[in-house]
Amino acid sequence: MTDPDCLFCKIVTGDIPADIVYENDNVVAFRDINPQAPTHVLVIPRQHIATINNLEAADAETVGNLYWAAKEIAAAEGVAEAGYRVVMNCNAAAGQAVFHIHLHVLGGRDLGWPPG
Ligand code: 5GP
Ligand code: ZN
Repeated sequence: MTDPDCLFCKIVTGDIPADIVYENDNVVAFRDINPQAPTHVLVIPRQHIATINNLEAADAETVGNLYWAAKEIAAAEGVAEAGYRVVMNCNAAAGQAVFHIHLHVLGGRDLGWPPG
């Protein structure tokens, strides 16, 4: 399922280019166009899901696949041992700007806590 009006669905279909670093049957991961850390990769499901609020029980494996990919990417980027952050924003108060769920994988620098 893709949404023809969704930016990240267009990256999944190849209609919009992206610097893809990892993909499998379930997920695609690519570098953020406005990176907030030396490593800033977005991991998305091929399936269009707008926000965390739209998740259904049947999506549990899809979400697990996102985290599995994040782990693999962190290792490939060389940030796994030092540490990294995996975060997903939901709706306006958290700053979600693209309404196709995505994990941010951030690493390569010390990350403050709590986030802004
Ligand atoms: P959000 O604020 O929704 O959690 O994160 C959206 C992210 O998508 C932002 O970090 C933004 O820089 C990134 N982004 C927006 N448009 C594009 C694009 O066309 N290509 C890529 N690679 N990243 C994008
Ligand atoms: Zn989408």
